Amino acid sequence: MRLAALGLSHETNTFSRVPADFEQFAQGGLARGDEVVREYRDSNATMAGFLEAADRFGVEVVPLIMARTGPIGTITKDAFDRIVGEMLEGLRERGPWDGVLLAQHGAAVSEEHPDVDGEVAARVRALVGPDVPIGMAIDMHANVSRAMIEHTTATVVYRTNPHLDPRQRALECAEIIVRTIRGEVRPAQALEMPPLVINIVKQFTGEEPMLGVVGDVEAALARPGMLSASAAEGYPYADVAEMGMSFLAVHDGDQRAARTAARWMAERAWERREQFVGDTPSPEEALKRAAAAPSGPVVLMDVGDNIGGGSSADSTVILETAMRLGIRGLLQTLFDPQAVLACVAAGVGAEVTLAVGGKTDGLHGRPVTVTGRVRVISDGKFEDPTPTHGGFRFFDGGTTVVLETTDDHTLVLESRRVGNVSLEQMYAVGVRPERKRIVVAKGVISPRPAYAPIASEIILVNTPGVTTSDLSFFTFNRRRRPLYPFEPAATYAPSS
Ligand SMILES: [Zn+2]
Repeated sequence: MRLAALGLSHETNTFSRVPADFEQFAQGGLARGDEVVREYRDSNATMAGFLEAADRFGVEVVPLIMARTGPIGTITKDAFDRIVGEMLEGLRERGPWDGVLLAQHGAAVSEEHPDVDGEVAARVRALVGPDVPIGMAIDMHANVSRAMIEHTTATVVYRTNPHLDPRQRALECAEIIVRTIRGEVRPAQALEMPPLVINIVKQFTGEEPMLGVVGDVEAALARPGMLSASAAEGYPYADVAEMGMSFLAVHDGDQRAARTAARWMAERAWERREQFVGDTPSPEEALKRAAAAPSGPVVLMDVGDNIGGGSSADSTVILETAMRLGIRGLLQTLFDPQAVLACVAAGVGAEVTLAVGGKTDGLHGRPVTVTGRVRVISDGKFEDPTPTHGGFRFFDGGTTVVLETTDDHTLVLESRRVGNVSLEQMYAVGVRPERKRIVVAKGVISPRPAYAPIASEIILVNTPGVTTSDLSFFTFNRRRRPLYPFEPAATYAPSS
């Protein structure tokens, strides 16, 4: 038995101004054949699960191509044509196949195709014909479309955020496809799309409301004959018709049972829709709460400047608010190569007065003038062998400077945009975040594995920016209407 494994994985922030062109994929995000094996075999990514399926189920899995890049803007027509062209060419030339395994993200948008994942599934289906099973494993942030379900045999979604189970889910997907080929099961899929958006600040699966949603998925999965059950949180920064939550069930042979299970999960979520609305405090409220906390460090998540979500990494909103309120003892990073150069020119030990941060665009606060002493100058490289969100190990912030301001803030100024996903980012420049009163982490979920163990409390902060939790900040042209909570009176009638 011979299966092809391939994918184009992208989470497209259609509000980002940085296009996902071919070059972005080529820079480290494009692997073919043996490169796919080398890059993914020992990782926890979707592709790793597909590769593992070979040994696990005694089949041949042929990796063709895997293309991915960070969550930036819309995929250019050129990049789509070249990558999808190569995917189809590989399938055509190296076939025939008993099955196909697709490692997609599920929230990809190109200039031509608002539903890239559905388009890829449709083209693969057209190429291999109706009798070859196609499995697709996707991210929990997928905006799942009808086309994705129509053109695949079984689609499986991650069940954790932060994403710790892509490999497991991919293996589950591959197992369904292998068993289908062997004639052991006959997958019947159903998708339910209530008009519901879950705010990014409510998406952590370790606590409510998502804990309950995942519980429902597991309950649906326990029903007799169920092969898979999923809840996709959706990706709200993509202006597409499918944007929002979706519920997916795959049953062995019984379309009606799949439909009933998907609908049950959707209805359960819809009943508690008010819990999915963002209710995060303003920077001022969050800082006052942090300053009044009996012990530190209180970690403030700068949601609007979520570096992993495609943001500028130089938001000064929380810093400026702290200075205005007279709150001291803040630690945070700022992307500011200009300020780094000025500090390097002044030298270690020098006192400088300069404007920091807020320089990329007009969306993440203004440059803030501070006076302080240059404590450390470093090359900005650091390494973290422990699991980080996304599984990366080596980091490079470029030339990095630690500036201690006269009002007791510690600013780590960097020349490259690096997410706050590892404490080593701080240790490498001699800063001990656990000794600080207030730490700003730019992100929503990804800083958790690093910062939760040292935080006395974590507060998600409603800051402005391209990844803000305040969705009224964006103009949506293509989303469904009505959609809760944009239209609070939205109603939901399950499909029949
Ligand atoms: Zn995701």
